[in-house]
Amino acid sequence: MELRNTVVIPKVISREVSTMHIGFDLDKVFVDYPPLIPTWLIDFLYRNHRSKRLVYRIPGVIEQKLRKASHYPSLRPALRENIAFLQRLASAKKHRLSLVSSRFSFLKQETEELIKRLHLDTYFSVLQFNFEDMQPHEFKLKTLKSLGITHYVDDDLALLEYLGKKLPRVTFFWLNPRIKAKISDNIFAVTSLSHIPHD
Ligand SMILES: [Mg+2]
Repeated sequence: MELRNTVVIPKVISREVSTMHIGFDLDKVFVDYPPLIPTWLIDFLYRNHRSKRLVYRIPGVIEQKLRKASHYPSLRPALRENIAFLQRLASAKKHRLSLVSSRFSFLKQETEELIKRLHLDTYFSVLQFNFEDMQPHEFKLKTLKSLGITHYVDDDLALLEYLGKKLPRVTFFWLNPRIKAKISDNIFAVTSLSHIPHD
């Protein structure tokens, strides 16, 4: 009996390999930061710079109020080109898509309104937020593992470098305005979501 010839699985394998579970960050991927405030300043404020390790700050009460105020819809413009790409990807139904955002619980209401306004809930199988206020990188590590994400897109390179080491089999894309390059074995810098292989 020639068993070798009866085992015809390459098609199944190739289908599995080409189906990705792509996770997306929210801020700076589908919605922009408020206009007039430099991106570097917001990113600086998000981090705790007294620690050498990656630590994010949970803002105090006054800063929470300011941050809530900065989440008025007109101050958080949609990144239309990226949402259009997401729409095309979702309607192709080839890959599983999930949203993984580390927004803290004090922004729960603003975040829910934003999701509804941009109809983001219609494109993703799972929308996971950090409403238990974990450290963002630890929250993302836990969520990417539990959802079985194979590819993840984020604008925060320090966070991706942390995840890249912890999850060597996941491919990461750093969405940024300038650099298109390979950063490490599993981190790639892209300037547009369309640079992510998706066919
Ligand atoms: Mg972000």
